[in-house]
Amino acid sequence: MGKWSTTGNLHHLGPGTTLVTGPAANWLIVRDGEAYTLVDCGYPDDRELVDASIAAAGATGLPEAVVVTHAHADHIGTLGRFADAGVPIHCAAAEVPNMTGTSREQIGPRGSLPRALRSWRWAKWCVHAIRAGGLRDVTVAASALTPFDTDVEVLDLPGAMRPVATTGHTSGHTSFLIGDTGVVAAGDAVITGHMTSPVLGAPQMLPAPYHHDPVRAEDTALRLLSGADFGVLAPGHGGPLPVPAGTRLVLH
Ligand SMILES: [Zn+2]
Repeated sequence: MGKWSTTGNLHHLGPGTTLVTGPAANWLIVRDGEAYTLVDCGYPDDRELVDASIAAAGATGLPEAVVVTHAHADHIGTLGRFADAGVPIHCAAAEVPNMTGTSREQIGPRGSLPRALRSWRWAKWCVHAIRAGGLRDVTVAASALTPFDTDVEVLDLPGAMRPVATTGHTSGHTSFLIGDTGVVAAGDAVITGHMTSPVLGAPQMLPAPYHHDPVRAEDTALRLLSGADFGVLAPGHGGPLPVPAGTRLVLH
């Protein structure tokens, strides 16, 4: 991708709803008047981009809350400073062990480096992940977390998000239907592009080694797309994508 910019990488998908495509992972800013919710927050080294995107989206100050799809380093990399500032961090109850580091359902060098030796796409991803801080400890204290059960109707936060359990990628992976915008923040349940993928701009899954439970992750992805009660996919990787009824997952 070209150089990151607030003009090229902010995608306004609905009232108050902005998807930010980061250098290798995405986050969303969901505004309700002055207040806003941040959904995921990039790699550790995306901090300045997160700040710039918040300002460019027209929001100021700290978010009302950070809502997390799952506890991978490219989605919670800048969480520490929000936790330190007392911003509540909402995640599925089943994701708490990954958030605090008592469990780790994430690909590590042992899973990725052998692939990097065989594939330039994987090599490129490994270099980016390491340089962006992907190996740093980004876990947070349990006291910083506000866990929710995924059968909760709506989170009482800007954006009125409805959590949808999309497990498999991690045990507590959650997508969020954002108010009545028709946008789903899908995290890594269904993506539209990734450094390791030759396909860009189509609904697809991350390669199997990224998933804690690849079989379940595929079932979840198929179910999420086929039951689509949303019109626009805002994925954790790749750009936003309209998903009319009947849109199929590209398996490769
Ligand atoms: Zn992930």
